[in-house]
Amino acid sequence: MKRSFIIFPAVATLFLALSCGSGQTVQGNPQVAAAVAEVSVDSVKVYIDELVSFHTRHTLSTQTDPARGLGAAIDFLADRCRRWAGAANPDRPRPIVEKIYYTVGENGGRYDRIVDVPELMVTLPGTKAEREILLVAHVDTRVVDVMDSTAFAPGADDDGSGVACLLETVRILSGIPLEQTVKCLFVSGEEQGLDGSRHFAALARSQGWPVQAVLSNDMIGNTRASGTELREDHKVRVFSESNSGEDTDSRQLARYIKEMASIYVPEQEIVLNYRTDRYRRGGDHSSFLREGFTAVRVCEYCEDYERTHQDVRTEGGVDYGDLPSYVDFDYLVRNIRVNIAAVMNLANAPACPANAVIANATELDNNTRLTWSPVLGPDGRPDPSVTYQVVCRETDKSEWLPALPLGLSDIVPASDKPEFYCPLSKDNYYFAIRAVSKDGYPGLPAVAK
Ligand SMILES: [Zn+2]
Repeated sequence: MKRSFIIFPAVATLFLALSCGSGQTVQGNPQVAAAVAEVSVDSVKVYIDELVSFHTRHTLSTQTDPARGLGAAIDFLADRCRRWAGAANPDRPRPIVEKIYYTVGENGGRYDRIVDVPELMVTLPGTKAEREILLVAHVDTRVVDVMDSTAFAPGADDDGSGVACLLETVRILSGIPLEQTVKCLFVSGEEQGLDGSRHFAALARSQGWPVQAVLSNDMIGNTRASGTELREDHKVRVFSESNSGEDTDSRQLARYIKEMASIYVPEQEIVLNYRTDRYRRGGDHSSFLREGFTAVRVCEYCEDYERTHQDVRTEGGVDYGDLPSYVDFDYLVRNIRVNIAAVMNLANAPACPANAVIANATELDNNTRLTWSPVLGPDGRPDPSVTYQVVCRETDKSEWLPALPLGLSDIVPASDKPEFYCPLSKDNYYFAIRAVSKDGYPGLPAVAK
């Protein structure tokens, strides 16, 4: 029997085939492509050399020495970001740079004293500012002894690479107005027990930040696997929480990052890792997951245990230590590009549709009818510029594909009561709906229940 609908074979095709409100086909947005291309190896090298020059950025290191320790490193980051904020595009709300303190050591743990430690928040306010996308990286470093706050702890990859990602994001996005707010959180206390990110996550919860997504970048610049000598410079992992089902919001975010990478950074493969993190290791995304936010960790595919958390030394003919010479800067740049592509798309996309429902779930039939609530505009009415795309996947598949009905269009125009019909059995697929802006920016999908 001839089938009257098509399932496209690759997720990359999904966006390429995405027709926007005006009927034209979008092949990635040129503004995003230009921003992605702006990420530069030269900038990133300078950032990491500067970070390493502070000798250590341990959470308990000096805050008064102008050239060493966490205090000087945070001041350096703040100065850099203030400079970009001062020169920001006048068409965007001015970026805000804030040094924030929290207290550590009151409950013991990996602290030998009670002290207020700094971290940095750079807010790139959106023109609409209804939602926030958070980028997180940790500034602090460590050596073998987690309590040693004076030894040379360069932290070029862990997590100088993530900090470099946030710096490039602030630099580039200061020049570009986006609809939604992007916050870059340069946290401390990660190596001592995720304290800095826990402080921010609690702040976000108590102050009601409208957080839509959290991307923690922790170790995104190394390509060598110690022990096995595997080298992988075109794959990066996105960890999305384990044990909580296939269709959590964090999983949707991970899939979204993969899709955006396939459009804007096709040479970098996103490996979806359906685990919260690696064995015996954690990261700052966990602090946000615990507060109920949608959060993932971006992390290099191969890890080098001769680098991270090591004292810089040569032992048994092996060089140890997390030095800039071991960072693969081309690889790091691609990972930063993946972040910028995902963040810019999210920050210009409409909200996730509410009340996505399989309307014929109680009927014995072989098709699917979906309904959802329209995304509202600023006037509280259904936004006429927003269209919808329905996606589906078989129950054992990981990634969404377009669900094309008769007429070969998976785009549903704006409507007070949007509805979608397709001749695919609701028993054989998961379905989701996402809103698409008039410029073709797709939002996060809402899974139909
Ligand atoms: Zn780390």
